[in-house]
Amino acid sequence: MKNYNISLIKGDGIGVEIVDEAVKVLDAVGKKFDINFDYKEYLMGGCAIDATGNPLPQETIDGVLNSDACLFGAIGGPKWDNQPRELRPESGLLKFRKEMGVFANLRPAIVYDELVDASSLKPEVIKGVDIMVVRELIGGIYFGEPKGKTETKGWNTMVYEVYEIERIAHVAFKLAMKRDKKLCSIDKANVLDVSQLWRETVEKIAVEYPEVKLSHMYVDNCAMQLIANPKQFDVILTGNIFGDILSDEASMLSGSIGLLPSASTGEKTAVYEPIHGSAPDITGMGIANPIATISSASMMLRYSLNEEEAADAIDIAIKKAMSEGYRTKDLAAFDAKEVVTTTQMGDIITSYLK
Ligand code: NAD
Repeated sequence: MKNYNISLIKGDGIGVEIVDEAVKVLDAVGKKFDINFDYKEYLMGGCAIDATGNPLPQETIDGVLNSDACLFGAIGGPKWDNQPRELRPESGLLKFRKEMGVFANLRPAIVYDELVDASSLKPEVIKGVDIMVVRELIGGIYFGEPKGKTETKGWNTMVYEVYEIERIAHVAFKLAMKRDKKLCSIDKANVLDVSQLWRETVEKIAVEYPEVKLSHMYVDNCAMQLIANPKQFDVILTGNIFGDILSDEASMLSGSIGLLPSASTGEKTAVYEPIHGSAPDITGMGIANPIATISSASMMLRYSLNEEEAADAIDIAIKKAMSEGYRTKDLAAFDAKEVVTTTQMGDIITSYLK
């Protein structure tokens, strides 16, 4: 039997409810494929502030770095909104990503056939959409120096070094190799010097992946194309700020924030989490959709643990729950046969894995 050490950060709000469901599903798939998961829980965010006075205790950093992968729920909530910035839950999250060195953020945007009506776009435009956005996460304008602000002026610097572009490009090309072998790199090379370097570097890396069809697109055009014809994309590769905006846009093609997972990977470890936050407005009501987190657990199996079969089994079980008409409240308006609670959705997906 294979054994993996998984660090769990449930966090705040619905984080606790949804991670519990993902663990249930992981245990079921583990039984089916002879895999054992040893879980260790760590604190981050508001719960960590309450327990230790620090949104990111050192024990959490060490524990995650020593695990095979981390499954993360969500952090934050109104209780901690009035803290000074460095003591807010969100500061813990940014510091956490930097400490973990997770430079590659992978966000799939998949439209389930059963939910084409949940999107604000026409069914014929979005049916079959399956995009993977690969965003550079710890460089670019969010971290570049110099930066500053006076009464009359504010400035930030968008800077990328070749090694940063190379390592994220490799991640994207490798993913494209496992998918439809199409990679679109997004930049603003008509205006920005940093984007010219980005484009030249991606071109150089492409030589190592001759089977992948590489194209380039300006970020403003990409924002339009994602709405006009999203099916043209397979893997999208982009820097931090463009990726921040485009991955949110792409994720909304599917119509529900409760469905979408993400992975943040690097050289030291990887963190898997839903794209949504801690949803304080529905915490404790049993109506949160756990699918984004269950899907994140599937990404963890696929990308960190190389357990492709187990990951496929979870993805198939999620699709089955959708096609059989089970919906949590957020999707109740779309072909629901039965509206179920967070726990029931976890149980239904688990039952397909037995
Ligand atoms: P949110 O994503 O928590 O919620 C936005 C809306 O989507 C809410 O109406 C919520 O009920 C709904 N929603 C979110 N997840 C859902 C799910 N699984 N099922 C059903 N409905 C769901 O964003 P917000 O309200 O802007 O932020 C709430 C808190 O979360 C804030 O403190 C914010 O800083 C934090 N946050 C944390 C993360 C993270 O931990 N990675 C990300 C975003 C926001």
